[in-house]
Amino acid sequence: TEKTMEKIVALCKGRGFVFAGSEIYGGLANTWDYGPLGVELKNNVKKAWWKKFVQENHYNVGLDAAILMNPQVWVASGHVGGFSDPLMDCKECKERFRADKVIEDWCAEHDFTLPKPVDALSQAEMKAFVDEHQIPCPSCGKHNWTDIRQFNLMFKTFQGVTEDAKNTVYLRPETAQGIFVNFQNVQRTTRKKLPFGVCQVGKSFRNEITPGNFTFRTREFEQMELEFFCQPGTELEWFNYWKQFCHQWLLDLGMKDENLRLRDHDPEELSHYSNATTDFEFVFPFGWGELWGVASRTNFDLTQHQNTSGKDMTYFDQEKNEHYIPYVIEPSLGADRVTLAFLIDAYDEEVVDAAKNDVRTVLRLHPALAPFKCAVLPLSKKLGDKAMEIRDMLAKDFMVDYDEAGSIGKRYRRQDEIGTPFCVTVDFQTVGTDTEEADHCVTVRDRDTMEQVRMPISELKAYLAEKMAF
Ligand code: ATP
Repeated sequence: TEKTMEKIVALCKGRGFVFAGSEIYGGLANTWDYGPLGVELKNNVKKAWWKKFVQENHYNVGLDAAILMNPQVWVASGHVGGFSDPLMDCKECKERFRADKVIEDWCAEHDFTLPKPVDALSQAEMKAFVDEHQIPCPSCGKHNWTDIRQFNLMFKTFQGVTEDAKNTVYLRPETAQGIFVNFQNVQRTTRKKLPFGVCQVGKSFRNEITPGNFTFRTREFEQMELEFFCQPGTELEWFNYWKQFCHQWLLDLGMKDENLRLRDHDPEELSHYSNATTDFEFVFPFGWGELWGVASRTNFDLTQHQNTSGKDMTYFDQEKNEHYIPYVIEPSLGADRVTLAFLIDAYDEEVVDAAKNDVRTVLRLHPALAPFKCAVLPLSKKLGDKAMEIRDMLAKDFMVDYDEAGSIGKRYRRQDEIGTPFCVTVDFQTVGTDTEEADHCVTVRDRDTMEQVRMPISELKAYLAEKMAF
């Protein structure tokens, strides 16, 4: 009962979580479409983030900025000049690779520790390292590399009818800049005092060189970002606060702590503007991968925008009676990536009866994340009207499935596999028969324990609501 990506991908395709994009045309590499269950799951993840980060958190407010922004934004942010990957081609087999990844993989394979993290190596240092160790092409095994060159990861397009340089716009590679450029708008309209934060969920685009591992790394993805503005000098306190807050969010939604690790960046690995960064990593079947980057970014971003736009980005601190540019803490989470992590974390194959070789697949998703909160199952098709009435009543408040096909055991298993936490079975007692009075109750089966309780229909809503709370 090993968790493999094959099993996860097969379940996703087979049950309607995730389909290959543009499938009928042979697909488009590394694009994925969320099916009826996947859209519910991902929406629930985003709702859970918004609930804890915006609705319940009195420091923070929300924002939904445009994907297309004035190109100057990307000059200020450093993305036009710097947002690139070091590429090299194998002259023998013509395969293209990210030099940093080739080096990283080679070091892992040879138990070689670099004097500094690979991200901190210059292009020339990478080239020298590859040559010194005669690192072979992972594809053909030869050592005959081109020079390393930088490839900008931003997607370019044109605004309007003329396709020339002055009409070039970029698809945003992160949601963060939409927040920075609105810093004054948000502060003025909300009259928030420091510290306060601005949250945004939205699509980002990166022309990744090596996308892959299903939805882990794609060129179009969604981010959930918070930019938390605070007084200079308080940033490390707030950094720790948000680190802990983010960790708790994952745990509250049922993610197992043993599948997580918080990796602090070494001083050499830190970006030049950051004085603390921690990556939250999750152990995917293909290895540890970053889920959430939490970074203390000093006043770098707002200062860049002040310098580039010429607009004042300072905050007036009434208590101190001074103007300054706030410091910022940025927890940045990939919606698709964390959705995949929740799926993997929840995936279980449980031996129900070893003698009979009976194994059930269960997605042990937190009820708040589960696509359906319950499934209404009439024991007989004759009970369809009553069952549908209950379905309709519950559907006012929750996503509810309805299934009357097949044996009840098979229907339970189908719901287990898609993570539905409760099955509500309607039987003849519910509606009464010629000889028996209706008890107006249903049987509620728990996905995880498989235990069943009988409860009045009138109590169902409150029962489900309580189970979904987090
Ligand atoms: P990586 O090292 O994996 O490329 P990154 O350090 O470039 O990630 P950030 O720029 O910090 O990532 O982005 C913040 C978060 O956005 C990541 O932790 C991840 O969850 C998500 N993310 C980034 N790039 C992608 C992508 N190509 N596909 C899916 N999610 C992504």
